[in-house]
Amino acid sequence: MRPSPAPGRPHVLVVEDEPAQREILSYNLSAEGFRVSTAADGEEGQMLISEDPPDVIVLDWMLPSISGIELCRQLKARSQTREIPIIMLSARSEEVDKVRGLETGADDYVVKPYAVSELLARVRAQLRRVRPAASGQVLEYEDIRLDAESYRVTRDGKSLKLGPTEFRLLATLMEKPGRVWSREALLDRVWGRDIYVDTRTVDVHVGRLRKVLMSEGGPDPLRTVRGAGYALG
Ligand code: CA
Repeated sequence: MRPSPAPGRPHVLVVEDEPAQREILSYNLSAEGFRVSTAADGEEGQMLISEDPPDVIVLDWMLPSISGIELCRQLKARSQTREIPIIMLSARSEEVDKVRGLETGADDYVVKPYAVSELLARVRAQLRRVRPAASGQVLEYEDIRLDAESYRVTRDGKSLKLGPTEFRLLATLMEKPGRVWSREALLDRVWGRDIYVDTRTVDVHVGRLRKVLMSEGGPDPLRTVRGAGYALG
């Protein structure tokens, strides 16, 4: 099977204490092609987030132990988790709750009972923002252009031939120009968590990517950060 051109499948975490709800969401999100993790309460959610940060969190408001609101506040207060979009689920539709929900820093809000299709649309909307390449959008960085849907990369208008791994690597870097990615973070995102690959493999593929990017001229857009990893620009 050819690996998906988009960098690592988007990862959605569902924190919901009602087993039936959790099951329905997990099933539908997986059917959309997402990698799904689930937690039955706020504490388990916290643990999963620190172990394997998701791209989007679907967070139930009413949870045992740490409530969804409290967890949302905590996540939005920490620099490592602040950028992860949170979609809050609530059984209460009162306006005041909505306002409070937004004050916690939640990025979106869905009132129960909701249509699954509606929630999926909200998840996709958040992903377009944080994972543009995984959503099939065109990414541009200086003279480099990557079209995740047609699987094409050009530099200064000239077509470049990239292998699937180099393509996913470039898409990952182009989603967040300037961000320094450790080798481990690139392994997780580009190769996936379930595959054992030596971190030196990352260096080999970055080297190949660099070569192709410079094959038609132009300066090296990739930056090696000693002891830290790689960045675009
Ligand atoms: Ca609940």
